[in-house]
Amino acid sequence: MFHVLFKSFKTGCLTEKLPPRDESLDQVGEACREEIARLFGKSMAVRMVDAGSCNGCELEMHAVNNGFYDIERFGIHFVASPRHADLLLVTGPVSRHMQAALKRTYDATPSPKVVIAMGDCAACGGEFGVSYASCGAVSNVIPVDAVIRGCPPTPLQLLQGILEVLKAR
Ligand code: SF4
Repeated sequence: MFHVLFKSFKTGCLTEKLPPRDESLDQVGEACREEIARLFGKSMAVRMVDAGSCNGCELEMHAVNNGFYDIERFGIHFVASPRHADLLLVTGPVSRHMQAALKRTYDATPSPKVVIAMGDCAACGGEFGVSYASCGAVSNVIPVDAVIRGCPPTPLQLLQGILEVLKAR
């Protein structure tokens, strides 16, 4: 027991310190909240579709939900069904296996729906391009309203992209 306590005392705290708060993210988030109030009422539901990504884009997308970024405070929340969604956020080049599923997800989303292609792969197919296994860009399969570039886009870039598409509505 003393051995464990001594070891903990000697090792100290290994948790990384939080970086300073990014005020630009809060500003963009607040602007999003105003646009969401104008368009949807109090909140906007997002359905995420991984159409064949390497998961890099998903990791950034998950990050926006963590306690640090916490985008639910701006009225943006993720849902499990396209039938409950206002916005589809699609990542990856569209693999041939996901082509029909993505089209069905798009058809199941109620109008007026917004579609954002997130990441370079979703924008143009990235290094995977179009092949026997890949349809390439998301716009090759369903209509896309906006593209957020980056490999992967950061949480701030993601929020900025969402803000731009909301403003254009
Ligand atoms: S854009 Fe980059 S991080 Fe996103 S799916 Fe493509 S390779 Fe992965």
